[in-house]
Amino acid sequence: MVDSGMDKIVSLAKRRGFIYPGSEIYGGLSGTWDYGPLGVELKNNIKNLWWRMFVQDRDDMCGLDAAILMNPKAWEASGHVGGFSDPLVECKKCKHRFRADQVEGKCPECGGASGEVRQFNMMFKTEVGAAEDESSTTYFRPETAGGIFVNFKNVVDSFHPKLPFGIAQIGKAFRNEIAPRDFIFRSREFEQMEIEYFVRASEWENAFEMWRKQVHAFNEAVGIPAQSVHELDVGDGNRAHYSKRTIDFEFDFPFGRKELYGLAYRADFDLQAHSSASGVPLKMIDVEGEVPITPHVIEPSFGVDRTILAVLASAYTEDELGGEVRTYLKFNSAVAPIKAAVFPLLKNKPELVAKAREVYTMLKRFVPQIMWDDNGNIGKRYRRQDEIGTPWCITIDFDTLGEKPELKDTVTIRNRDTAEQERISIDNLLSRIA
Ligand code: ATP
Repeated sequence: MVDSGMDKIVSLAKRRGFIYPGSEIYGGLSGTWDYGPLGVELKNNIKNLWWRMFVQDRDDMCGLDAAILMNPKAWEASGHVGGFSDPLVECKKCKHRFRADQVEGKCPECGGASGEVRQFNMMFKTEVGAAEDESSTTYFRPETAGGIFVNFKNVVDSFHPKLPFGIAQIGKAFRNEIAPRDFIFRSREFEQMEIEYFVRASEWENAFEMWRKQVHAFNEAVGIPAQSVHELDVGDGNRAHYSKRTIDFEFDFPFGRKELYGLAYRADFDLQAHSSASGVPLKMIDVEGEVPITPHVIEPSFGVDRTILAVLASAYTEDELGGEVRTYLKFNSAVAPIKAAVFPLLKNKPELVAKAREVYTMLKRFVPQIMWDDNGNIGKRYRRQDEIGTPWCITIDFDTLGEKPELKDTVTIRNRDTAEQERISIDNLLSRIA
Protein backbone atom coordinates (compact mmCIF):
# COMPACT_ATOMS: atom_id res chain seq x y z
CA MET A 1 0.00 0.00 0.00
CA VAL A 2 1.45 3.37 -0.99
CA ASP A 3 1.01 6.04 1.64
CA SER A 4 2.36 9.36 0.46
CA GLY A 5 2.56 10.88 3.98
CA MET A 6 4.69 7.98 5.11
CA ASP A 7 6.78 7.90 1.91
CA LYS A 8 7.75 11.53 2.40
CA ILE A 9 8.90 10.90 5.96
CA VAL A 10 10.88 7.80 5.00
CA SER A 11 12.59 9.60 2.15
CA LEU A 12 13.41 12.72 4.17
CA ALA A 13 14.75 10.52 6.99
CA LYS A 14 17.10 8.79 4.56
CA ARG A 15 18.12 11.83 2.49
CA ARG A 16 18.97 13.94 5.52
CA GLY A 17 20.76 11.29 7.55
CA PHE A 18 18.19 10.31 10.19
CA ILE A 19 17.39 6.67 9.38
CA TYR A 20 18.82 4.31 6.76
CA PRO A 21 17.68 0.78 5.83
CA GLY A 22 19.86 -1.78 7.71
CA SER A 23 22.79 -3.34 5.75
CA GLU A 24 21.68 -1.42 2.68
CA ILE A 25 24.67 -2.11 0.39
CA TYR A 26 23.96 -5.83 0.76
CA GLY A 27 20.33 -5.47 -0.21
CA GLY A 28 19.16 -4.81 3.35
CA LEU A 29 17.98 -7.07 6.17
CA SER A 30 14.25 -7.06 6.68
CA GLY A 31 13.12 -5.48 9.94
CA THR A 32 16.37 -3.64 10.69
CA TRP A 33 17.14 0.08 10.47
CA ASP A 34 20.30 2.09 11.09
CA TYR A 35 20.18 5.51 12.72
CA GLY A 36 22.37 8.05 10.93
CA PRO A 37 24.20 11.09 12.35
CA LEU A 38 21.03 13.11 12.96
CA GLY A 39 18.91 10.10 13.91
CA VAL A 40 21.24 9.14 16.73
CA GLU A 41 21.13 12.71 18.11
CA LEU A 42 17.32 12.72 17.96
CA LYS A 43 17.19 9.29 19.58
CA ASN A 44 19.62 10.27 22.36
CA ASN A 45 17.65 13.46 23.04
CA ILE A 46 14.45 11.41 23.45
CA LYS A 47 16.10 8.79 25.67
CA ASN A 48 17.83 11.44 27.79
CA LEU A 49 14.58 13.34 28.24
CA TRP A 50 12.82 10.16 29.34
CA TRP A 51 15.65 9.26 31.74
CA ARG A 52 15.72 12.76 33.17
CA MET A 53 11.93 12.86 33.62
CA PHE A 54 11.41 9.35 35.02
CA VAL A 55 14.67 8.58 36.82
CA GLN A 56 16.77 11.64 37.67
CA ASP A 57 13.99 14.13 38.48
CA ARG A 58 12.17 11.72 40.82
CA ASP A 59 13.18 10.29 44.15
CA ASP A 60 11.04 7.14 43.92
CA MET A 61 12.88 5.80 40.86
CA CYS A 62 16.26 4.30 40.01
CA GLY A 63 17.88 3.07 36.82
CA LEU A 64 19.34 -0.21 35.61
CA ASP A 65 21.23 -1.54 32.59
CA ALA A 66 20.93 -5.32 32.58
CA ALA A 67 22.51 -7.74 30.11
CA ILE A 68 20.63 -8.49 26.89
CA LEU A 69 21.45 -12.20 27.18
CA MET A 70 19.95 -13.88 30.22
CA ASN A 71 19.73 -17.34 31.66
CA PRO A 72 17.00 -19.02 29.55
CA LYS A 73 15.23 -20.12 32.74
CA ALA A 74 14.18 -16.48 33.18
CA TRP A 75 12.30 -16.60 29.87
CA GLU A 76 10.70 -19.91 30.80
CA ALA A 77 9.48 -18.44 34.09
CA SER A 78 8.14 -15.28 32.45
CA GLY A 79 6.11 -17.35 30.01
CA HIS A 80 8.01 -16.20 26.92
CA VAL A 81 9.39 -19.62 25.94
CA GLY A 82 5.94 -21.16 26.12
CA GLY A 83 3.76 -18.33 24.95
CA PHE A 84 5.51 -15.40 23.27
CA SER A 85 4.18 -16.20 19.84
CA ASP A 86 2.11 -14.86 16.97
CA PRO A 87 -0.18 -16.98 14.77
CA LEU A 88 1.69 -17.82 11.55
CA VAL A 89 0.10 -18.92 8.31
CA GLU A 90 1.76 -19.91 5.03
CA CYS A 91 0.26 -19.42 1.56
CA LYS A 92 -0.13 -22.83 -0.12
CA LYS A 93 0.64 -21.36 -3.53
CA CYS A 94 3.46 -18.77 -3.22
CA LYS A 95 4.71 -19.92 0.23
CA HIS A 96 4.74 -16.38 1.61
CA ARG A 97 4.28 -16.27 5.39
CA PHE A 98 1.88 -13.94 7.16
CA ARG A 99 0.50 -13.18 10.58
CA ALA A 100 -2.86 -14.94 10.60
CA ASP A 101 -4.48 -12.06 12.51
CA GLN A 102 -3.41 -9.58 9.82
CA VAL A 103 -4.79 -11.34 6.71
CA GLU A 104 -8.33 -12.30 5.84
CA GLY A 105 -8.45 -15.81 4.49
CA LYS A 106 -6.56 -15.39 1.22
CA CYS A 107 -2.89 -14.62 0.61
CA PRO A 108 -2.47 -10.84 0.15
CA GLU A 109 0.45 -11.46 -2.28
CA CYS A 110 -1.09 -13.89 -4.79
CA GLY A 111 -4.63 -14.57 -3.60
CA GLY A 112 -3.77 -18.21 -2.94
CA ALA A 113 -5.34 -20.28 -0.17
CA SER A 114 -3.66 -20.19 3.23
CA GLY A 115 -2.55 -23.29 5.12
CA GLU A 116 -2.86 -24.27 8.77
CA VAL A 117 -2.33 -21.62 11.43
CA ARG A 118 0.50 -22.45 13.81
CA GLN A 119 2.07 -20.57 16.71
CA PHE A 120 5.43 -19.00 15.91
CA ASN A 121 7.69 -18.02 18.81
CA MET A 122 9.14 -14.58 18.21
CA MET A 123 12.27 -14.88 20.35
CA PHE A 124 15.62 -15.02 18.54
CA LYS A 125 17.59 -18.07 19.70
CA THR A 126 21.32 -18.10 20.06
CA GLU A 127 24.06 -20.34 21.46
CA VAL A 128 26.18 -19.30 24.40
CA GLY A 129 29.71 -20.74 24.51
CA ALA A 130 31.38 -23.28 22.23
CA ALA A 131 29.03 -26.24 22.71
CA GLU A 132 25.92 -26.31 20.55
CA ASP A 133 23.47 -28.31 22.59
CA GLU A 134 20.19 -27.71 24.41
CA SER A 135 21.94 -26.44 27.51
CA SER A 136 23.70 -23.63 25.64
CA THR A 137 20.60 -22.21 23.96
CA THR A 138 19.42 -18.83 25.08
CA TYR A 139 17.50 -15.91 23.60
CA PHE A 140 17.96 -12.27 22.69
CA ARG A 141 15.63 -10.54 25.13
CA PRO A 142 12.21 -9.76 23.58
CA GLU A 143 11.64 -6.97 26.13
CA THR A 144 13.75 -5.15 28.69
CA ALA A 145 11.37 -5.81 31.61
CA GLY A 146 12.81 -9.28 32.35
CA GLY A 147 16.15 -7.78 33.39
CA ILE A 148 14.37 -5.57 35.90
CA PHE A 149 12.54 -8.42 37.66
CA VAL A 150 15.64 -10.58 38.01
CA ASN A 151 17.43 -7.63 39.65
CA PHE A 152 14.60 -6.78 42.05
CA LYS A 153 16.38 -8.46 44.97
CA ASN A 154 19.73 -6.84 44.14
CA VAL A 155 18.25 -3.35 44.13
CA VAL A 156 16.25 -3.96 47.31
CA ASP A 157 19.35 -5.32 49.08
CA SER A 158 21.50 -2.36 48.00
CA PHE A 159 19.07 0.48 48.66
CA HIS A 160 16.31 -0.80 50.99
CA PRO A 161 13.62 1.27 49.20
CA LYS A 162 10.10 1.63 50.60
CA LEU A 163 6.98 1.28 48.49
CA PRO A 164 6.13 2.71 46.10
CA PHE A 165 9.37 2.70 44.08
CA GLY A 166 10.31 1.92 40.53
CA ILE A 167 13.18 0.62 38.40
CA ALA A 168 13.67 1.95 34.88
CA GLN A 169 15.67 0.61 31.99
CA ILE A 170 16.39 1.65 28.40
CA GLY A 171 17.77 -0.86 25.94
CA LYS A 172 17.52 -3.01 22.86
CA ALA A 173 14.88 -5.69 22.45
CA PHE A 174 14.57 -8.26 19.66
CA ARG A 175 11.51 -9.93 18.17
CA ASN A 176 11.48 -12.12 15.12
CA GLU A 177 8.34 -10.40 13.81
CA ILE A 178 6.58 -12.42 11.11
CA ALA A 179 5.89 -9.31 9.08
CA PRO A 180 8.07 -6.30 9.94
CA ARG A 181 6.46 -3.25 8.37
CA ASP A 182 5.66 0.43 8.43
CA PHE A 183 9.25 1.70 8.60
CA ILE A 184 10.54 1.70 12.20
CA PHE A 185 7.07 0.97 13.64
CA ARG A 186 7.48 -2.80 13.58
CA SER A 187 11.07 -3.95 13.34
CA ARG A 188 12.97 -6.99 14.55
CA GLU A 189 15.54 -5.06 16.55
CA PHE A 190 14.29 -2.02 18.43
CA GLU A 191 14.65 -0.15 21.67
CA GLN A 192 12.38 0.08 24.69
CA MET A 193 12.18 2.36 27.73
CA GLU A 194 10.45 0.40 30.47
CA ILE A 195 9.52 0.88 34.10
CA GLU A 196 8.44 -1.57 36.75
CA TYR A 197 6.79 0.48 39.48
CA PHE A 198 6.33 -1.54 42.67
CA VAL A 199 3.35 -0.77 44.90
CA ARG A 200 1.31 -2.20 47.76
CA ALA A 201 -1.51 -4.31 46.33
CA SER A 202 -4.10 -1.92 47.75
CA GLU A 203 -2.54 1.07 46.02
CA TRP A 204 -2.26 -0.02 42.41
CA GLU A 205 -5.09 2.19 41.17
CA ASN A 206 -3.47 5.44 42.33
CA ALA A 207 -0.15 4.46 40.81
CA PHE A 208 -1.82 3.42 37.57
CA GLU A 209 -3.52 6.81 37.34
CA MET A 210 -0.25 8.62 38.10
CA TRP A 211 1.54 6.76 35.27
CA ARG A 212 -1.37 7.31 32.89
CA LYS A 213 -0.83 11.05 33.33
CA GLN A 214 2.95 10.70 33.09
CA VAL A 215 2.64 9.01 29.70
CA HIS A 216 0.77 12.07 28.42
CA ALA A 217 3.31 14.39 30.05
CA PHE A 218 6.12 12.59 28.21
CA ASN A 219 4.29 12.92 24.89
CA GLU A 220 3.95 16.62 25.49
CA ALA A 221 7.64 16.94 26.36
CA VAL A 222 8.76 15.32 23.09
CA GLY A 223 6.24 17.20 20.94
CA ILE A 224 3.60 14.54 20.25
CA PRO A 225 0.31 16.49 20.28
CA ALA A 226 -2.33 15.32 22.76
CA GLN A 227 -5.04 15.23 20.10
CA SER A 228 -3.14 12.53 18.15
CA VAL A 229 -2.92 10.15 21.13
CA HIS A 230 -5.87 7.97 22.15
CA GLU A 231 -6.27 5.68 25.12
CA LEU A 232 -7.64 2.23 24.46
CA ASP A 233 -8.74 0.33 27.54
CA VAL A 234 -7.89 -3.26 26.69
CA GLY A 235 -10.93 -5.44 27.37
CA ASP A 236 -11.09 -8.59 29.54
CA GLY A 237 -10.70 -11.00 26.64
CA ASN A 238 -7.53 -9.36 25.29
CA ARG A 239 -5.65 -8.67 28.52
CA ALA A 240 -3.10 -11.02 30.01
CA HIS A 241 -4.87 -13.20 32.61
CA TYR A 242 -3.00 -11.61 35.53
CA SER A 243 -3.65 -8.01 34.48
CA LYS A 244 -6.64 -6.21 35.99
CA ARG A 245 -6.15 -3.22 33.75
CA THR A 246 -4.18 -2.40 30.62
CA ILE A 247 -4.25 0.75 28.49
CA ASP A 248 -2.78 0.97 25.01
CA PHE A 249 -1.83 4.50 24.04
CA GLU A 250 -2.47 4.72 20.33
CA PHE A 251 -1.14 7.33 17.93
CA ASP A 252 -2.55 8.45 14.59
CA PHE A 253 0.34 7.23 12.44
CA PRO A 254 0.18 8.03 8.71
CA PHE A 255 -0.82 4.36 8.16
CA GLY A 256 -3.54 4.33 10.82
CA ARG A 257 -4.19 4.42 14.54
CA LYS A 258 -1.73 2.00 16.17
CA GLU A 259 -0.11 1.24 19.52
CA LEU A 260 2.54 3.71 20.62
CA TYR A 261 2.94 2.67 24.29
CA GLY A 262 1.40 0.29 26.79
CA LEU A 263 0.54 0.63 30.48
CA ALA A 264 -0.33 -2.51 32.43
CA TYR A 265 -1.14 -3.49 35.98
CA ARG A 266 0.52 -6.91 36.30
CA ALA A 267 -0.34 -7.66 39.96
CA ASP A 268 2.45 -9.82 41.49
CA PHE A 269 2.60 -12.23 38.55
CA ASP A 270 6.24 -11.62 37.57
CA LEU A 271 7.85 -11.58 41.01
CA GLN A 272 5.90 -14.72 42.01
CA ALA A 273 6.84 -16.51 38.79
CA HIS A 274 10.57 -15.68 39.06
CA SER A 275 10.53 -16.47 42.74
CA SER A 276 9.08 -19.96 42.34
CA ALA A 277 11.22 -20.77 39.26
CA SER A 278 14.51 -19.59 40.79
CA GLY A 279 13.81 -20.67 44.36
CA VAL A 280 14.92 -17.22 45.54
CA PRO A 281 12.27 -15.34 47.55
CA LEU A 282 11.53 -11.98 45.88
CA LYS A 283 10.03 -10.09 48.78
CA MET A 284 10.79 -6.89 50.63
CA ILE A 285 10.17 -5.35 54.01
CA ASP A 286 7.92 -2.36 53.48
CA VAL A 287 7.09 -1.57 57.10
CA GLU A 288 9.76 -2.27 59.74
CA GLY A 289 8.69 -5.04 62.07
CA GLU A 290 6.16 -6.47 59.64
CA VAL A 291 6.59 -9.58 57.47
CA PRO A 292 8.19 -9.21 54.05
CA ILE A 293 5.71 -8.82 51.18
CA THR A 294 5.65 -9.37 47.43
CA PRO A 295 4.76 -6.01 45.89
CA HIS A 296 2.44 -5.59 42.92
CA VAL A 297 3.63 -3.81 39.81
CA ILE A 298 2.57 -1.21 37.26
CA GLU A 299 4.44 -1.40 33.96
CA PRO A 300 4.64 1.60 31.63
CA SER A 301 6.34 0.47 28.42
CA PHE A 302 7.58 2.95 25.81
CA GLY A 303 9.03 2.08 22.40
CA VAL A 304 11.93 4.39 21.46
CA ASP A 305 11.51 3.85 17.73
CA ARG A 306 7.74 4.33 17.79
CA THR A 307 8.34 7.57 19.72
CA ILE A 308 10.74 8.70 17.01
CA LEU A 309 8.23 7.87 14.29
CA ALA A 310 5.44 9.71 16.12
CA VAL A 311 7.75 12.70 16.70
CA LEU A 312 8.75 12.76 13.01
CA ALA A 313 5.14 12.42 11.85
CA SER A 314 4.01 15.18 14.23
CA ALA A 315 6.85 17.51 13.20
CA TYR A 316 6.59 17.01 9.44
CA THR A 317 5.21 20.24 7.96
CA GLU A 318 4.81 21.69 4.50
CA ASP A 319 4.05 25.36 3.93
CA GLU A 320 4.68 28.00 1.29
CA LEU A 321 7.55 30.38 1.53
CA GLY A 322 8.31 33.02 -1.15
CA GLY A 323 5.98 31.22 -3.57
CA GLU A 324 7.67 27.86 -3.11
CA VAL A 325 6.68 24.78 -1.16
CA ARG A 326 8.86 24.36 1.90
CA THR A 327 9.28 21.17 3.93
CA TYR A 328 10.39 21.41 7.50
CA LEU A 329 10.42 19.45 10.74
CA LYS A 330 8.78 21.42 13.50
CA PHE A 331 10.70 19.72 16.31
CA ASN A 332 10.55 21.30 19.72
CA SER A 333 13.99 22.39 20.80
CA ALA A 334 14.28 19.64 23.44
CA VAL A 335 14.33 16.89 20.79
CA ALA A 336 15.79 18.80 17.80
CA PRO A 337 19.05 17.05 16.81
CA ILE A 338 20.65 20.41 16.02
CA LYS A 339 19.72 23.40 18.19
CA ALA A 340 21.28 26.07 15.97
CA ALA A 341 23.38 26.35 12.81
CA VAL A 342 26.10 28.96 12.32
CA PHE A 343 26.89 30.37 8.85
CA PRO A 344 29.55 32.75 7.60
CA LEU A 345 27.72 34.80 4.94
CA LEU A 346 30.47 33.99 2.39
CA LYS A 347 32.87 31.13 2.72
CA ASN A 348 35.67 32.79 0.74
CA LYS A 349 36.08 35.78 3.09
CA PRO A 350 38.54 34.75 5.82
CA GLU A 351 37.44 37.56 8.18
CA LEU A 352 33.83 36.32 8.06
CA VAL A 353 34.85 32.70 8.47
CA ALA A 354 37.09 33.51 11.44
CA LYS A 355 34.37 35.48 13.23
CA ALA A 356 31.76 32.77 12.50
CA ARG A 357 34.13 30.10 13.86
CA GLU A 358 34.52 32.15 17.02
CA VAL A 359 30.73 32.32 17.51
CA TYR A 360 30.36 28.61 16.66
CA THR A 361 33.04 27.57 19.17
CA MET A 362 31.60 29.77 21.90
CA LEU A 363 28.07 28.33 21.47
CA LYS A 364 29.29 24.74 21.19
CA ARG A 365 30.98 24.96 24.56
CA PHE A 366 27.55 25.32 26.18
CA VAL A 367 25.23 23.69 23.65
CA PRO A 368 26.92 20.72 21.95
CA GLN A 369 24.31 20.21 19.23
CA ILE A 370 25.42 23.15 17.01
CA MET A 371 26.16 22.74 13.29
CA TRP A 372 28.56 24.63 11.05
CA ASP A 373 27.36 25.20 7.51
CA ASP A 374 29.09 27.19 4.78
CA ASN A 375 27.94 25.17 1.79
CA GLY A 376 25.98 26.90 -1.01
CA ASN A 377 24.06 30.14 -0.74
CA ILE A 378 22.22 31.22 2.42
CA GLY A 379 18.83 30.29 0.96
CA LYS A 380 19.99 26.71 0.41
CA ARG A 381 21.41 26.51 3.91
CA TYR A 382 18.09 27.66 5.38
CA ARG A 383 16.29 24.98 3.35
CA ARG A 384 18.61 22.30 4.60
CA GLN A 385 18.32 23.35 8.22
CA ASP A 386 14.51 23.59 7.92
CA GLU A 387 14.42 20.02 6.63
CA ILE A 388 16.36 18.72 9.63
CA GLY A 389 14.32 20.80 12.06
CA THR A 390 16.97 23.24 13.34
CA PRO A 391 15.10 25.92 15.31
CA TRP A 392 17.66 28.73 14.74
CA CYS A 393 20.08 29.79 11.97
CA ILE A 394 22.74 32.37 12.81
CA THR A 395 24.52 34.33 10.07
CA ILE A 396 27.73 36.29 10.51
CA ASP A 397 27.96 39.10 7.93
CA PHE A 398 29.95 42.26 7.29
CA ASP A 399 27.94 44.21 9.83
CA THR A 400 29.04 41.72 12.48
CA LEU A 401 32.59 42.80 11.69
CA GLY A 402 31.66 46.47 12.07
CA GLU A 403 30.94 47.64 8.52
CA LYS A 404 28.10 49.61 10.11
CA PRO A 405 29.78 50.45 13.42
CA GLU A 406 26.50 50.51 15.36
CA LEU A 407 25.89 46.85 14.31
CA LYS A 408 29.33 45.53 15.31
CA ASP A 409 29.13 42.18 17.16
CA THR A 410 25.52 41.60 16.18
CA VAL A 411 24.30 38.70 13.98
CA THR A 412 21.09 37.77 12.21
CA ILE A 413 19.12 34.98 13.79
CA ARG A 414 16.37 33.28 11.81
CA ASN A 415 13.41 31.50 13.31
CA ARG A 416 12.62 28.18 11.55
CA ASP A 417 8.83 28.32 11.91
CA THR A 418 8.19 31.95 10.94
CA ALA A 419 11.29 32.30 8.69
CA GLU A 420 11.66 35.78 10.21
CA GLN A 421 15.08 37.27 10.84
CA GLU A 422 16.18 39.49 13.61
CA ARG A 423 19.43 41.23 14.51
CA ILE A 424 20.70 40.50 17.97
CA SER A 425 23.94 40.92 19.83
CA ILE A 426 26.31 37.92 20.06
CA ASP A 427 26.09 38.27 23.85
CA ASN A 428 22.38 37.41 23.71
CA LEU A 429 22.70 34.36 21.46
CA LEU A 430 23.08 31.77 24.17
CA SER A 431 20.04 32.83 26.14
CA ARG A 432 17.99 32.84 22.91
CA ILE A 433 18.85 29.27 21.84
CA ALA A 434 19.37 27.55 25.17
P1 ATP B 1 2.19 -4.82 18.92
O1 ATP B 1 0.82 -5.26 19.37
O2 ATP B 1 2.19 -3.58 18.07
O3 ATP B 1 3.03 -5.94 18.37
P2 ATP B 1 2.98 -5.26 21.61
O4 ATP B 1 1.67 -5.07 22.32
O5 ATP B 1 3.48 -6.61 21.33
O6 ATP B 1 2.97 -4.38 20.25
P3 ATP B 1 4.55 -4.67 23.88
O7 ATP B 1 4.94 -6.06 24.07
O8 ATP B 1 3.54 -4.06 24.79
O9 ATP B 1 4.09 -4.44 22.37
O10 ATP B 1 5.88 -3.79 23.84
C1 ATP B 1 5.96 -2.52 24.45
C2 ATP B 1 6.33 -1.43 23.45
O11 ATP B 1 7.46 -1.79 22.68
C3 ATP B 1 5.24 -1.16 22.41
O12 ATP B 1 4.25 -0.29 22.92
C4 ATP B 1 6.04 -0.53 21.30
O13 ATP B 1 6.24 0.85 21.55
C5 ATP B 1 7.36 -1.26 21.37
N1 ATP B 1 7.44 -2.34 20.38
C6 ATP B 1 6.94 -3.59 20.52
N2 ATP B 1 7.21 -4.34 19.42
C7 ATP B 1 7.90 -3.53 18.57
C8 ATP B 1 8.47 -3.73 17.29
N3 ATP B 1 8.41 -4.89 16.66
N4 ATP B 1 9.13 -2.69 16.71
C9 ATP B 1 9.22 -1.50 17.34
N5 ATP B 1 8.69 -1.27 18.56
C10 ATP B 1 8.05 -2.26 19.18
